[in-house]
Amino acid sequence: MRIPGTLALGALLLAAFTTPPAAAARGAPAALPDSARLLRLVRELGDPRFEGRGVGTAGIELAAGLVEREMRALGLAPAWDDGGWDQSFEVTTGAEVGRPTSIALDGTLYEAGDAFQPLGFSSNGTLTARVVFAGYGISAPGYDYDDYAGLDVRDRIVLVLSNEPGELDSTSRFDGTVNTPFAELRTKAINARERGALGLLVVNGPRWHAGEPVRRPRADGQGYMSSGLLTGWLADSLGEALMRRAGTDLDAAQRAIDSLGRPRSFPIPDSVTVTVTLARTRARIRNVVGRLPGRDTTRVLVVGAHYDHLGFGGERSLRPDERVAHPGADDNASGTAALLGVARLLAERARAGWRPEHDLIFAAFTGEEMGVVGSSHFVDRPPRPLASVEAMLNLDMVGRLKNGRLMVMGTGTAAEFPALIENANRAAGFDLKTSGDGYGPSDHSSFYKRQVPVLMLFTGAHADYHRPSDTWDRIDESGLWRVTRFAAALVESLDARPRPHYLKAKADSTSGRIGGGGGYGAYLGTIPDFSQTEGGVLLSGVREGSPAEQAGLAPGDVIVKFDDVRIDNLYDYAYALRSRRPGQPVRLAVQRQENRIEVTVTLGKRP
Ligand SMILES: [Zn+2]
Ligand SMILES: [Zn+2]
Repeated sequence: MRIPGTLALGALLLAAFTTPPAAAARGAPAALPDSARLLRLVRELGDPRFEGRGVGTAGIELAAGLVEREMRALGLAPAWDDGGWDQSFEVTTGAEVGRPTSIALDGTLYEAGDAFQPLGFSSNGTLTARVVFAGYGISAPGYDYDDYAGLDVRDRIVLVLSNEPGELDSTSRFDGTVNTPFAELRTKAINARERGALGLLVVNGPRWHAGEPVRRPRADGQGYMSSGLLTGWLADSLGEALMRRAGTDLDAAQRAIDSLGRPRSFPIPDSVTVTVTLARTRARIRNVVGRLPGRDTTRVLVVGAHYDHLGFGGERSLRPDERVAHPGADDNASGTAALLGVARLLAERARAGWRPEHDLIFAAFTGEEMGVVGSSHFVDRPPRPLASVEAMLNLDMVGRLKNGRLMVMGTGTAAEFPALIENANRAAGFDLKTSGDGYGPSDHSSFYKRQVPVLMLFTGAHADYHRPSDTWDRIDESGLWRVTRFAAALVESLDARPRPHYLKAKADSTSGRIGGGGGYGAYLGTIPDFSQTEGGVLLSGVREGSPAEQAGLAPGDVIVKFDDVRIDNLYDYAYALRSRRPGQPVRLAVQRQENRIEVTVTLGKRP
């Protein structure tokens, strides 16, 4: 019974896709009900030709073109007075393997290929050094486990196994079959570097991964941020060749660790030469921004949604090893469709004679997934002075309304917001869950950092989040339309009021986290600027009442050292923070304009 069903579904999908979405769009849009129009946009933005709207793909450019065409069709004006609809800028998108990239071992030179591949976060250069086998390359005091205990790896190349002890063993102390952050290659590289190693080679252990091909470096995501040492992936055969020099093999070495749950590291009486050449790839990306002119152009409201997504996956995907287009229907084709839906509702009212008090700016942001870089760029170079922006409304993941439950973030960022939300909801009738915090992992935080009151609408997390299964057919059409009307009502309500009074909101545990899990929950309260990718962690803000604020850290500071850990980028910072406990004092070296200062901060506990 299954097979006919599958066939029927296949035929149906085929029929649905024989009409190209663009052609369908040119068909009879006016005849569609409003909710169906939104769903069609979601579906179109998730189409394979948009390539998951990943930064650096050709597909995201097509998506930008689509958004601009929609804005023009709605009768919006371009946001910039010179007639420009977009603002473009360059970002680093990844790394490509160049030549020479090779490893020389046992008198043989292996070029980058099936035997050897650099990791995407390797530094460039060439190095000849002795090799030390350091087990899994893990130092995890919280698990009472350290592959480097009593081991001297200074000026050496470290050879480590991928993953962690007892990887697929449900009784393993490393959280059973779920990998901890210690299994991440980036963590292993930083750990090796901090112990003085100059290079890191990774090989699969035969216990769970025998015969797997050597991994190619990720060309996407932010894997390109250098780890500060030469790193590469070795085929099993080369790993075995090194282990033979020490009179053992990978299987025996792995079993020795896994069976006793204790590290077993040793030097290998051989040296290798590693050469890596990685070229960073760059791409030009753009925010697309339209405007509905108001009576008073010195007063501005911004409605925003990011239109980018994860492209073909990469490190931010929860299926990082699947190289398939991630359609991002909920994240954030839904918000983009809602943004255009709000613009349509208000543009229609304007055509019927209504004139907003404010200039209403509709911004489709790029680069949100790589760390809100589009909205950060926008607040640095807004089409109207940022001081004239009275509030920002962000729409991110609004297509999965369930039981009428809608999350509203940022209600504590202006004195007037709680009452405004309650009033607007009287007609809308959502089961509202509010959070006061103005920070959070989306574009509204770029505005809140600059003292703009913000609100963000969100219909909640789900199992398809950041996975290829976030598809248009799982979007709740009537829910998306309800949220869109609610958003339009909020804009109208904001438009009819005097300027809201900005407030510093309390931190909320669900937002703005950096550093990932796996640590002790140590907390500093720094807000990094994600567009800075090397030379330290640039702060764009510090949380109210946080240890960082108490220690006098301020926006513009660049953290370059955390106790003895060198901080070049966010990964180093997360590594350092994860290794410390709440209540511990840490010394931070900070670059403040021309001066290098040192501050001592006592770490707090994550709120
Ligand atoms: Zn999103
Ligand atoms: Zn996302």
